[in-house]
Amino acid sequence: MNYKIAVIPGDGIGPEIVNEAVKVLDKAGEKFGFQLNYTKLLMGGASIDVHGIPLTEETIAEARDSDAVLMGSIGGDAKTSPWYQLEPSKRPEAGLLKIRKSLNLFANLRPAYLYEELKAACPLREDIIGGGFDMMIMRELTGGLYFGERHTTEENGVKKAVDTLSYDENEIRRIAKRGFDIAMKRRKKVTSVDKANVLDSSRLWRAVVEEVAAEYPEVTLEHMLVDNCAMQLVRDPKQFDVILTENMFGDILSDEASMVTGSIGMLSSASLNETKFGLYEPSHGSAPDIAGKDIANPIATILSAAMMLRFSLDLDEAADAIESAVKQVLKDGYRTGDIMSEGCELVGCTRMGDLIAERV
Ligand code: NAD
Repeated sequence: MNYKIAVIPGDGIGPEIVNEAVKVLDKAGEKFGFQLNYTKLLMGGASIDVHGIPLTEETIAEARDSDAVLMGSIGGDAKTSPWYQLEPSKRPEAGLLKIRKSLNLFANLRPAYLYEELKAACPLREDIIGGGFDMMIMRELTGGLYFGERHTTEENGVKKAVDTLSYDENEIRRIAKRGFDIAMKRRKKVTSVDKANVLDSSRLWRAVVEEVAAEYPEVTLEHMLVDNCAMQLVRDPKQFDVILTENMFGDILSDEASMVTGSIGMLSSASLNETKFGLYEPSHGSAPDIAGKDIANPIATILSAAMMLRFSLDLDEAADAIESAVKQVLKDGYRTGDIMSEGCELVGCTRMGDLIAERV
């Protein structure tokens, strides 16, 4: 089988970590009998340097014409990079928002899983994380506050800024369905997170999620206020299976969840539309502070590539093999700097990619 994969290396450590993911994918292809044909695309700062804008219509069309998109990450150091002298709509991050919207990638999946070997990096006490945790954060990605109308005005010398948080029931229903579908393949529990004690948009969210829940009698649904959820994530992360939430809450909670796993360098993500198509990228940013030094952790990107095989290409066996190879490499004691602990062997980005590819 042949597949067309759009690859967006991006900025900072993006090209380094994407190289390693491609290496591992090619090894899986050899072993499981499929071939991925890659088209390299520019986005973020790399696109600004060439085209003056962070994402061109041609790039969107190329991405849409692929079976899936694999991305590194985009952006630079906001204090020093010239990209941040541009108006906000021309900065690297605008490309990310635009590609999500253009490809209708409304469902963002971020697993937060505690690897036994990395327990020491988890900032929570042993009695809290004993037995590990394994949750999936499902965040709505193309609506809510980040896409609502906004403006800044000034009246009588007083500046005022307004952002709008809006959701319609269809936007809520489609993400809720995705959340319940994923829960059916896991431990069959959905925690829907909102702020229904204050926000109208949250009250609608809650009502629609309950309607959808009625179609999934095997799944247990609970509602949780976002402030409580932020606490529960550090008090008892084991209680969560699928966390279903809107855009801004998901943005914040998924970073918190990533912190309790110990390393941002380990966390994959997928953004999906209503079909099999998806964009796969690590949860972390472009880490300009360590770019070009061959010290970045490529595992989040490699695990994102495994998610791509599973969700977009239905190559579950190959995805399992990559995930097992990651576990094995950790068991064998290899670590990049961000997850290094005593008694382990420190390796760079390229070597980590080689070690994982060898174990696929
Ligand atoms: P970041 O995630 O890039 O870095 C935060 C810290 O984690 C840094 O110390 C970095 O060195 C470290 N880190 C991140 N990934 C790592 C890895 N794979 N291995 C080892 N260490 C790693 O966040 P930031 O510094 O806030 O953002 C840097 C740039 O990335 C900004 O321009 C931001 O806008 C952008 N960004 C992009 C995305 C994306 O492309 N989806 C997401 C978040 C941030």
